[in-house]
Amino acid sequence: MKPKVYLIDVTNRDGVQTSRILLPKLSKTMLNIYLDGMGIYQSEIGFPTLKHEINYINGNLELARAGAIKNLHLEGWCRAVPEDIRLVFKNCPGIRDLNISLSTSEIMIEGKFQGRKIWKDIVGSMTEAVRTAKELGAKTVGVNAEDASRTDISRLIDCALAAKEAGADRFRYCDTLGADDPITIYERIRALAAATNMPLELHCHNDLGMAEAVSCAGAQGAIESGVDAYINTTVNGYGERCGNCDLVSAILALTYSPGLSRKMQLDEQVNLSEAWKLAKYASYAFNLPIPISQPGVGANAFAHESGIHADGTLKDRRNYELYAPEDVGRGEPELSQTGRIITTGEYGGIKGFRHVYDKLGIHFSTDVEARAILELVQYANLHTQKPLTDDELRLIAQHPDPVRKILTMEI
Ligand SMILES: [Zn+2]
Repeated sequence: MKPKVYLIDVTNRDGVQTSRILLPKLSKTMLNIYLDGMGIYQSEIGFPTLKHEINYINGNLELARAGAIKNLHLEGWCRAVPEDIRLVFKNCPGIRDLNISLSTSEIMIEGKFQGRKIWKDIVGSMTEAVRTAKELGAKTVGVNAEDASRTDISRLIDCALAAKEAGADRFRYCDTLGADDPITIYERIRALAAATNMPLELHCHNDLGMAEAVSCAGAQGAIESGVDAYINTTVNGYGERCGNCDLVSAILALTYSPGLSRKMQLDEQVNLSEAWKLAKYASYAFNLPIPISQPGVGANAFAHESGIHADGTLKDRRNYELYAPEDVGRGEPELSQTGRIITTGEYGGIKGFRHVYDKLGIHFSTDVEARAILELVQYANLHTQKPLTDDELRLIAQHPDPVRKILTMEI
């Protein structure tokens, strides 16, 4: 079978660990639901070793069992050490996909461990962690090489081969500091793929403004060496420091760049027309604006003013647009209604609550049922601290038990 490019979105792990930005667990859940609707292969949903993530992760696994999340792989992230793996399965026994991380560069091993651990020990822990994960029920394990772009290529190859030998399914090349350029990563990924024949993930940061270019060039290196590529993305590029490879930009590049689309086959499940809804929701949930010039979803992505451009676009939009607003799903109504509006939330009562749900076409057969959902709506609003969107209200009514779990934290 011809190798393909798949997408792994890491907003709910890498995105949320960013300074100054936060995401409530209900919003993380909605992102998973939208990513599923968009046909994304996998979501790195969070940290199963972290106590406050346990109910959220288990609640999402329940939503998947109930069919509210259909095809998206729900993957947890932890360190590549056996004790983390055991804790993951103690906290979240239903998890089946994991990515586990170790530092590979000399500078990080020196700087972090300061002589307490040598490379051989670190690789030994990683291979034991992979074996433990598989024994405890993991279907897929990806091994993440943190700071791969500053790691000697022969060491990366040795690490990937040791991971493969232990049963790992993929190897993640992390450009943790955003230091790579398209040509260098292409050459290094070609060498890594040729030596290991392993599916490779590209995890690239945007410190030099090249995250999407570097990710696509790395993917091309993998594809041309005959292995699948998995590009890591975040919604709207939100992520540490200068951000990560933006999901929508990566899809647009792989679809509309004549060179890239000719050389690589993107996973056919990806549905770009859901991009607008996802981008808007992430902006709302994170309380972060979408930059005006953001590819596809920025306010100016389809705006034209200069005389020659406006005239040309009006005659035929293809004169000045690579893709159309409908291609990314623009034109959908806003997240919630405008004009005179009744909302329901933290301090809402039963009448307003019923009115809101009636408008969504959701009716409750008994007063007891309605009051139970109202109480959940109050807690959800307390949790998100902003008006609940129509899709959030639908999720609460349709899947109250997992939502209750997601809103709960045990200390
Ligand atoms: Zn990262």
